[in-house]
Amino acid sequence: MPATAPPGVGHLRGEEPFPVAARRALADSQLRRNVGHATTTIRAKSGAVIGELPDWEHLRAAGSAIKADVLARLPELLEQLEAKVTQAGGVVHWAADANEANRIVTDLVSATGSDRVIKVKSMATQEIGLNEALADAGIEPVETDLAELIVQLGDDRPSHILVPAIHRNRAEIREIFLRAMPGVDPALTDEPAALAAVARRYLRQTFLSTKVAVSGANFAVAETGTLAVVESEGNGRMCLTLPETLITVMGIEKVVPTWRDLEVFLQLLPRASTGERMNPYTSMWTGVTPGDGPQAFHLVLLDNGRSAVLADEVGRQALHCIRCSACLNVCPVYERTGGHAYGSVYPGPIGAVLSPQLTGVADNASLPYASSLCGACYDACPVKINIPELLVHLRDQVPHPRGESVAMAAAAYTMDRPRLYEAAQRAARLSRLAGRRGRGLPPPLNGWTASRDLPDPPAQTFRDWWAER
Ligand code: SF4
Repeated sequence: MPATAPPGVGHLRGEEPFPVAARRALADSQLRRNVGHATTTIRAKSGAVIGELPDWEHLRAAGSAIKADVLARLPELLEQLEAKVTQAGGVVHWAADANEANRIVTDLVSATGSDRVIKVKSMATQEIGLNEALADAGIEPVETDLAELIVQLGDDRPSHILVPAIHRNRAEIREIFLRAMPGVDPALTDEPAALAAVARRYLRQTFLSTKVAVSGANFAVAETGTLAVVESEGNGRMCLTLPETLITVMGIEKVVPTWRDLEVFLQLLPRASTGERMNPYTSMWTGVTPGDGPQAFHLVLLDNGRSAVLADEVGRQALHCIRCSACLNVCPVYERTGGHAYGSVYPGPIGAVLSPQLTGVADNASLPYASSLCGACYDACPVKINIPELLVHLRDQVPHPRGESVAMAAAAYTMDRPRLYEAAQRAARLSRLAGRRGRGLPPPLNGWTASRDLPDPPAQTFRDWWAER
C-alpha cells in the first residue's frame, strides 16, 4: 500500500478525539452563534444562485465524471502536466509527503535570499504545515487572504475551508487588528469596510516589497500546463503577478485534462461555495512569460497520502473534492461544533472522510462518526461525492471494541434463528412491561443509548399480527 501522511508534521491529526473536542466547542455559545449565522447566510445565497441554473444536475454529473476520469489515469495526466509546465519554463518537483514538500519549498525560498514570502490562501500548504517549516528556517510567511490574516494575527487555527475565520465576529476581528497589526488607529470601528481598509493598507506594502510568493492551486490543466487559482479579494492576483519567484504547492488530484473540463468546474465552484454566479478573481498562468509576472515558477506536486486514498476503490471519491465547502455549510454537526473540533485543516463532512484516509483510519478513528448520516452533504456536493457512503465505509475500518463485536455476533446468531428471535422479542417486551428504568440499555451496551433513545417495542409484532391471520 502507498504511504499515508507522516505524523509529527502538518495539520491532519487532532490532539484529542472528536467527541471530546466537540463537547468543549458546544459549550461556547458565541462560537455557535458566529458559525450558525455565517453558514445560514452562505447556504441561502448559494441555494438562490444554484436555483437559477436549469442544468445544475447535469453540471454536477459532468464534474463527477471528469474527476473519476482524472483518477483513473492520474499518472498519465500528471506526466503530461509536468511536460507542459517544463516546456513553458517552469520547474516541477515531486513531493511524496509533507516533509519533502516543506523541504523543497524552504530550499527554493532560501535560494532566492528572501526572508519573507507572501501567501495565497491554500489548503495544501496548511495541510503540510508549511508556515511552521518556513518560520523554522527563518523565513516569515505572510498570509494575504483577509480571513487567513485574521487567523494568523490572532495566533489561531482556521475553522472553515473557505472562510477560515468563520468562528470570529466583527468585534473580535477589530480586537485582533488592534492588538497584532502595527500602526492601527485605536479609533478603528468594527464596520466591515473599515476593517478591510486597515488590512488592505497593511498588506499593500508587503505585496510591493516581497520577492517570493507561495500559492496553492485550484486546478491545473494538463493539456497546456496552466495553473488556476480562484479567489474573491484580489490578494491572490497580487501574489501571483508581483513577485519575482512563484512557488505553487498542489495536491496531485487537482489536475484536469483539458480547458473544456475546467469550464465545468468554474461554473460549479462559485455557486456552490460563495454563492456567486461567477468567481471574482480567476488567475491563470502557464510557466513564465518574459517581462510579465514572476520570472521563476516552481510547481510542487504533493502526494502526502493521496496515493493511499486512490488505492481504495470506495474511498477514492474523496479525491473528487474541489474544496467548495458546501458540505460544511449544510452539516448540522459542523454548524454546532465549528471546525476546530475536527482537529484537521479539513473540517466538516469532507474532513471526516478525507483526513482519516490521508493519515490512515487509526490516526483519526473518531472522525467517521462525526456525522448523523443525514445525507445533506451528499445533496449539496457539486461533484456528487457520496460522503455518507464513505463514512460508513470508514466506520468499517475503525478498530471496534471487543464488546461490540461480541454483541453483533450474538445479534446475528439470534436473527438467523426464528424461534430464538421470537423469544428475544417477547423478552424485550416483558422487560419493558416489568419496569421502565430509563430509556437506555444496561452496560456494556449503554454507549449505544448514551445519545439515542431506545425505541419502545411495539405492542404487537409483525409475527404476532401474521399469526393472528
Ligand atoms: S466534498 Fe463536495 S461539498 Fe464538500 S468541500 Fe468537497 S466538493 Fe465541496
